[in-house]
Amino acid sequence: MKLADRVHKIQPSPTLAIDAKAKALKAEGIDVIGFGVGEPDFDTPENIRQAAKKAIDNGFTRYTPVGGIDELKDAIISKLKRDNGLEFRRDQITVACGAKHSLYNISQALIQEGDEVIIPVPYWVSYPDQVLLAGGRPVFVDTDEKSAFKISPEQLEKAITPRTKALILNSPCNPTGTSYTRDELRKLGEVCLKYDFMIISDDIYEKLLYDGIPFANIASAVPELQSRTIVVNGVSKTFAMTGWRIGYAAGPVEIISAMTKLQSQSTSNPSSVAQKASIEALNGPQDAVKMMISEFENRRTYIVKRLNDIPGISCFMSTGAFYAFPNVSELYGKSFSGKAINNSTNLCAFFLEHARVAVVPGIAFGADNYVRFSYATSMDNIRRGIDRIEEAISALV
Ligand code: PMP
Ligand code: GLU
Repeated sequence: MKLADRVHKIQPSPTLAIDAKAKALKAEGIDVIGFGVGEPDFDTPENIRQAAKKAIDNGFTRYTPVGGIDELKDAIISKLKRDNGLEFRRDQITVACGAKHSLYNISQALIQEGDEVIIPVPYWVSYPDQVLLAGGRPVFVDTDEKSAFKISPEQLEKAITPRTKALILNSPCNPTGTSYTRDELRKLGEVCLKYDFMIISDDIYEKLLYDGIPFANIASAVPELQSRTIVVNGVSKTFAMTGWRIGYAAGPVEIISAMTKLQSQSTSNPSSVAQKASIEALNGPQDAVKMMISEFENRRTYIVKRLNDIPGISCFMSTGAFYAFPNVSELYGKSFSGKAINNSTNLCAFFLEHARVAVVPGIAFGADNYVRFSYATSMDNIRRGIDRIEEAISALV
């Protein structure tokens, strides 16, 4: 069969692929500890589950407007005002089947053949592939732990060309866990103001910030940029609702209505029941969220320290999300049973085969000197998993 060329431009999501591999090994009875996928290990809070049950019992089980029901849009509008100081109307909000879907709709609505999209590296796995699918060209801007994995205004300006269509910012960041301050965003925003392109602000890890750091996005840091910014967020990470598939975008009417039009010819509305649950998530009590954040923060501090204690590994102290992103390049050149380890792919294969620990190779995020640990798993798993990694590394020669 000859498939469409576009299928060959992209790879399956590597994070989801590693999760599937770890789950398949577990199903065979092998005790694998998974640091692969970025998915909270907590249950969706009780009040949210109840709201969904009520929606089903009340027969709220039919098609809804494509871009979401007004009650959910209003909850999103209140959230954006309360948390981010941003004002939106209903026609500036569209709800999709996860933030990944919102981002996909943005790239399909915005990017033309040959358009360039600036993506800081390390990046979340789906950004380049979604840009490629839309016929665009990802323009990568490298960062490392010396700059806390953040791009500078000078680096941004250098990457801009007449073909630049958009910049993607993700703070707190998957995979590095870094986060930009309001002041840093203001400085990047001042560069953006000199040119004419859209900014996609992926705020999905907004609530997962540690050490008392306040959240900021570029539209709140530079209000003049709001008319050119699309804010993307969702309930997956904050409320442990990955399976419910609700994400949203807020931005200029023109792009929001184009995204809704595309969605009307693809998925139609996101699940009616999940929309009702998301209203409760956004408007209801936030105690469960506070508990989860505090637990993630403890795990962050523990895993980063443990990783830094392993010879050959050095790990940046992240400030948000639920990922540790250690530099493992000092281990390259070593070998195990005669097999050389010289990149993040072989190192992760070694971790899986010999330590029974699933970790994502940094190459998936454009950074081969690193690997990603998702610490959205219990403290006990983290302790056992790092013990195994430590032991496996001591066997390298
Ligand atoms: N953006 C980033 C940076 C992510 O890590 C994820 C996690 N999958 C998403 C967007 C999409 O989340 P979801 O589709 O579950 O809302
Ligand atoms: N964003 C999560 C991760 O990076 C979920 C997997 C995915 O959607 O790619 O692991």
